[in-house]
Amino acid sequence: MADANHIKDGWFFESCSLWSGMGFALEIEKVLHREKSRFQQVEVFQTKNYGKMLALDGIIQLTEFDEFAYQEMLAHVPLFAHPFPESVLVIGGGDGGILREVCRHDCVKTIDFCEIDEAVIRVSKQFLPTLACGFDDPRVNVFIGDGYAYVLEKKNQYDVIIVDSSDPVGPGEVLFKKPFYEGLKAALKPDGIVATQGESIFLHQECVTNLARITKQLFVQQAYACIMVPTYPGGNIGICLGSLGPELKQPARKISDRVQKKLQYYTPQIHAASFVLPDFARRMFDNI
Ligand code: SAM
Repeated sequence: MADANHIKDGWFFESCSLWSGMGFALEIEKVLHREKSRFQQVEVFQTKNYGKMLALDGIIQLTEFDEFAYQEMLAHVPLFAHPFPESVLVIGGGDGGILREVCRHDCVKTIDFCEIDEAVIRVSKQFLPTLACGFDDPRVNVFIGDGYAYVLEKKNQYDVIIVDSSDPVGPGEVLFKKPFYEGLKAALKPDGIVATQGESIFLHQECVTNLARITKQLFVQQAYACIMVPTYPGGNIGICLGSLGPELKQPARKISDRVQKKLQYYTPQIHAASFVLPDFARRMFDNI
């Protein structure tokens, strides 16, 4: 997977054992960057029609075309569900897109950020400035290291924790297991909320139900929200949420006109609507 074999005749072909028998392709104009970091192959492409694209180990992490959908929802659903988030932790998300969205919340005073691979941050700062602008905010404290190890050292510290992880292969695998979620719970304040990259209800049912089961066991409330993202496998991705107090499915705070005008996907209406799932998925979660 971690080589240039996914490029053929000017097309980038994504395939992965996590959604075997299915592939996705984007026409590319240029390889802008390629390096093998300590953890993964980091590549940036200029696509023909969808802006720049970041891939890790041959898996699409984002395109400039639709990244706003994922970043806005993974950040704003938990942050607006919380009545007054001041202390936030972001794990993964080396491109900076989640940080960019968290920084829109004036009530947030500190944003700790832990990413395992410095190369993703460096490359994003060079090639994806509209995402990496998240690193410019003085409230952001950057730590390079494994998110699981980082979380184990934190107790009762955060109002909201957001996990913007890659898929459960390679360095991201540990972030999909119960001990990590136990660490997240301990790192939260008593009314805290956690939101994690929740894969696809169509393609990753075992992974999704496992995440839902873990959050149901550990948190007072558990919920799963769906986001449309055309360049993710199957065109959709989810957020797995756990709350120690606040209601998850409705915003607890009003969004200002100033912030709303800057967004392209999140609204209070889509916050609530994203939890209304197709019936097969509703039954899947009912049965955990
Ligand atoms: N939602 C995007 C996706 O799956 O396509 C994820 C984007 S973001 C680039 C994922 C980040 O998680 C990567 O930069 C990766 O290095 C980071 N990551 C993976 N495992 C990690 C770990 N154990 N601790 C901290 N960061 C990790």
